[in-house]
Order: sequence, then C-alpha cells, then structure tokens
Amino acid sequence: MINTTGLCTLCVEVMSNPLCSSCFSKHVTFWLSEKNLPKHEVLRIKKLLKRFVNSSEETPFGSECIICGSKIVNICTVCSMEKVKRIIENVVEDEVLIEDFDENFNPKIWEFPTDSWSHKIENFKVPNQKL
Ligand SMILES: [Zn+2]
Ligand SMILES: [Zn+2]
Repeated sequence: MINTTGLCTLCVEVMSNPLCSSCFSKHVTFWLSEKNLPKHEVLRIKKLLKRFVNSSEETPFGSECIICGSKIVNICTVCSMEKVKRIIENVVEDEVLIEDFDENFNPKIWEFPTDSWSHKIENFKVPNQKL
C-alpha cells in the first residue's frame, strides 16, 4: 500500500517541511504590506490568495503544517511558491517585485524554519474582514 501522506498533490514529491497555504499566504501578505503597491492591486492579490488557500485545504490527507501545526498540507513549498508567484505576476507587472518575491520566498528559506519567522507570523494578523 502506498502511503500518500506527506506527498505534494501537485508534484508528488515528499514534503520535508510542510507549510500550509494559509501560513504561506500570511507570509506573502506580510511581505506585500511592506511594498508600496496600489491598494486595488493589493486587494486583488489578497482575493486570489484566499482562493488559493481555500482550494488547497480541501484534500483530507496530508501532513501537519510546521508552523501552525493544525492545517493539513498537501502542496509543497515549491508548488505553493509557484502558484502564488503566478498570482502576483497576473496582478502586478513589475519585474523588480517578482525578483524580490523570488528572493524572499525561495523554498530554501523554509528548510530551516527559524523562531523569528514563526514569531513574525504569530504577531502578524491578516485583516480578514477586508478580503
Ligand atoms: Zn509540489
Ligand atoms: Zn500553517
């Protein structure tokens, strides 16, 4: 019997550091809040991020998120990054911003989750009511 737990549903690679799309989106929103983007673009990205979060939490199997420990993860960080990158590319035509995204969300940064990252997430509240 093949154990599907811990495999990314998109690329079927083993997820060594499962990170849920919800936590991933929080990071992106945090990063986004430091950019001077027009409000309508930020809102558009947040809307698409929410759709991404909702769609990726439907599968009942997967691994627990390394940050929140409650959400089930079924997409690896590499695939999450690619998906979110496409969302941002669709909304913002800014190569510098995309490069910045690449630097900040390089899947390597998740290999050694530091306290500072999870600390950042805990203290950062996404204004859900605005989505
Ligand atoms: Zn994947
Ligand atoms: Zn999580």
